[in-house]
Amino acid sequence: MIKLHDLYFKPFISAEQIDAAVTRMVDEIATDLGDEVPVFVGIMNGSFMFVSDFVKKYPKPCEVTFIKLASYAGLKSTEDIQRLIGLTQDLTGRTVVILEDIIDSGNTLAEVHRIFKNENVKSLTIATLFHKPEAYKKDFKLHYVGINIPNKFIVGYGLDYEGLGRDLPEVYQLKTTQHMTNIVLFGPPGAGKGTQANFLKEKYSLVHISTGDVFRYNIKNETALGMLAKSYMDKGQLVPDKVTIDMLNNEVEKNADANGFIFDGFPRTNAQAEALDKLMDSKDSQINAMVALEVEDDILVDRLLERGKTSGRSDDADKSIIRNRIKEYYDKTAILKDYYTKQDKYFGVDGVGDISEITNRLSTVIDAL
Ligand code: AMP
Repeated sequence: MIKLHDLYFKPFISAEQIDAAVTRMVDEIATDLGDEVPVFVGIMNGSFMFVSDFVKKYPKPCEVTFIKLASYAGLKSTEDIQRLIGLTQDLTGRTVVILEDIIDSGNTLAEVHRIFKNENVKSLTIATLFHKPEAYKKDFKLHYVGINIPNKFIVGYGLDYEGLGRDLPEVYQLKTTQHMTNIVLFGPPGAGKGTQANFLKEKYSLVHISTGDVFRYNIKNETALGMLAKSYMDKGQLVPDKVTIDMLNNEVEKNADANGFIFDGFPRTNAQAEALDKLMDSKDSQINAMVALEVEDDILVDRLLERGKTSGRSDDADKSIIRNRIKEYYDKTAILKDYYTKQDKYFGVDGVGDISEITNRLSTVIDAL
């Protein structure tokens, strides 16, 4: 991922893919032109890399020149196209091939056609490395197209965003979701995840999703999901993955504009962790860290029994259910430490002490991400 000015872009088309497309275009054009000596006309600035690579590969004699026509002001293809600069040579009777980096709306191309109408060239063909079929609104024939791309803003290989990115040897696409901070708050039942999440969500403007809270809300409102979850929660067991993952996906979708998320109580199994990675990937994002509150079992039991006196949670009132929840954690959930350690994303934090002291410990980890 790269950042240009205020925006984030993700890798989209590799240097190798570009090279293959350029080679193919050279082959097609060289075959079609036979022994004609063409004049390749690059449209500045964006096409400079394409033209350079193209003519280096071109197997026969050719001429190269550039004209300048800028149609981009920032992100949008604007209607008022600047006029042509730079066509000084007489192209009467010549075989002209326009080399464009990208054709989207076709406005620049219309201007090229307007200009060449009076040049009395022998032929005018259009070759573009990238083309956005969904954005194209003109009828001009595009004789050679390197790679068709969706209607998304791209940079690199000559193309810029507000001046930056032209020098990149590969192409990047604007991320659909801009930068998010996503944290998995981890730890056994009673570690203090909910308490800490409440502080952290304010401090970092994140959306807090507690799967346990969502289940309890559904139980209170007697929804079908709530009734299903209750049978498992009452025994201190995990709710089946499919149910939990679908619910989590829904909660994330409801907050599509968030700066990021604190996941509390999720993931609890490998399948959930994989589903979460997939979900983050679909948002062009990722989990930045698993921050784990580490607390000994005996302290957990005491804390949960204490909380049970006021929380109204039946799974906090009974010592054997509490023990079962802690056992579920070690049997099924603790393995996720490995999952995130492998990705260098696991950060353990001592979960015993003052609430504010623990918040500070967590903040130190998050600030360093
Ligand atoms: P919690 O509030 O995180 O302690 O969760 C309370 C109960 O909700 C758990 O004991 C499970 O029965 C259920 N639950 C919460 N999150 C999940 C999850 N990610 N996967 C499966 N069950 C969950």
